[in-house]
Amino acid sequence: MNIQKGTSLFGLNTFGMKATIAQLAKATSLEDVQSILEYQYKNKMPLFILGGGSNILFTKDVEALVLLNRLKGISVREQNEDYVWVEACAGENWHQFVQHCIQQNWGGMENLSLIPGNVGASPMQNIGAYGVEIKDVFHSLEAVRLRDGQVREFSAEECRFGYRESIFKQEEKGNWLISKVTYRLTRKNHVLKTEYGAILSELEKMKITHPDIQSISKAVIQIRQSKLPDPAEIGNAGSFFKNPVIELELLENIKLNHPDCVNYPAGEGKVKLAAGWLIEKAGWKGYRKGDAGVHKNQALVLVNYGHAKGDEIASLADQIIEDILIKFGVKLEKEVNIY
Ligand code: FAD
Ligand code: NAP
Repeated sequence: MNIQKGTSLFGLNTFGMKATIAQLAKATSLEDVQSILEYQYKNKMPLFILGGGSNILFTKDVEALVLLNRLKGISVREQNEDYVWVEACAGENWHQFVQHCIQQNWGGMENLSLIPGNVGASPMQNIGAYGVEIKDVFHSLEAVRLRDGQVREFSAEECRFGYRESIFKQEEKGNWLISKVTYRLTRKNHVLKTEYGAILSELEKMKITHPDIQSISKAVIQIRQSKLPDPAEIGNAGSFFKNPVIELELLENIKLNHPDCVNYPAGEGKVKLAAGWLIEKAGWKGYRKGDAGVHKNQALVLVNYGHAKGDEIASLADQIIEDILIKFGVKLEKEVNIY
């Protein structure tokens, strides 16, 4: 086991934060995980698990042992005529895994193309895009309990998936390392979801009249590349806030001043608002103070133009939350994890 001391976080998080990590250990196998846990118990250090670093804002140095999850491997667990149960280790890159599945003609994850990060974090917030969430294709996961190294499986029900939520962000926060995830994908009769966002118009632009999982993935990749800031060029962690789900009554109030308020049905008596629309309407789109800002094309994304500190981004987020509460009576919640 190789422990690096006092190393930089730069290059390990998509916000481009430069804080220092007290100790860093890379795990490429379950045995590595167990040795790192033993080392942690002996040294009585807090542990922090890092995947691709694309959903975290570091606001200070990490006074912990960081376990860099690089567990690799993809295998078929089971298959029948209709479905394949494919298992991926937590350190596999998400987008490469999705592309691998598409190449095998396994359907269900095409709408989730080009999401940064690793497989292991996909259940953490039940990642979602363009009308699909991983809960739609999830079968089970394997996790290691950090307290004692015990390994067990969690079913979909046990993960308690919700909108950008799971038990691992709530009651079980910080208790488990997700080591493997199994997804159930279609081998034929793929269920295509094209009605969401700009997918249909992108397919039209591509002159695709009979979409398949490959063309949907391409359309999603093109839309994302045209709209979202690339973390390799400008630091960000995707959507900083969740889209708020509110009571219909509050929407009616908002509509008195903003009849064009974007909203989508979200169950009995509830609607989902587009947080990006609220932030843009409140005048924050393109805002910049020092190197911390709100992206000029997508107001839901907070950005680091180069040397912003984590607490400057966090403070900008808090100002936005306060302003949206005053202007619309809606309390935004952060989607990005804050350290
Ligand atoms: P990290 O940032 O490394 O970790 C996130 C949290 O999970 C941390 O608290 C960490 O401790 C914990 N964690 C990570 N791995 C494990 C593990 N194996 N076991 C236990 N805990 C773990 N998200 C979406 O849902 N939909 C999108 O469309 C989307 N688009 C994005 C676009 C951009 C440009 C960016 C930068 C981000 C986007 N995200 C999106 C957010 C992010 O990519 C996902 O949440 C992703 O799953 C995070 O993976 P990661 O490996 O980088 O996690
Ligand atoms: P968009 O297509 O411009 O739509 C704006 C918002 O409206 C989205 O957040 C989406 O909610 C919602 N929406 C659009 N069509 C909808 C429909 N038919 N039914 C219900 N809700 C609808 O969004 P975008 O910013 O370009 O992002 C596209 C997709 O990628 C979205 O699903 C978004 O969540 C995802 N994405 C996520 C992140 C992240 O970091 N979490 C970053 C970038 C993109 P939902 O967000 O609930 O889907």
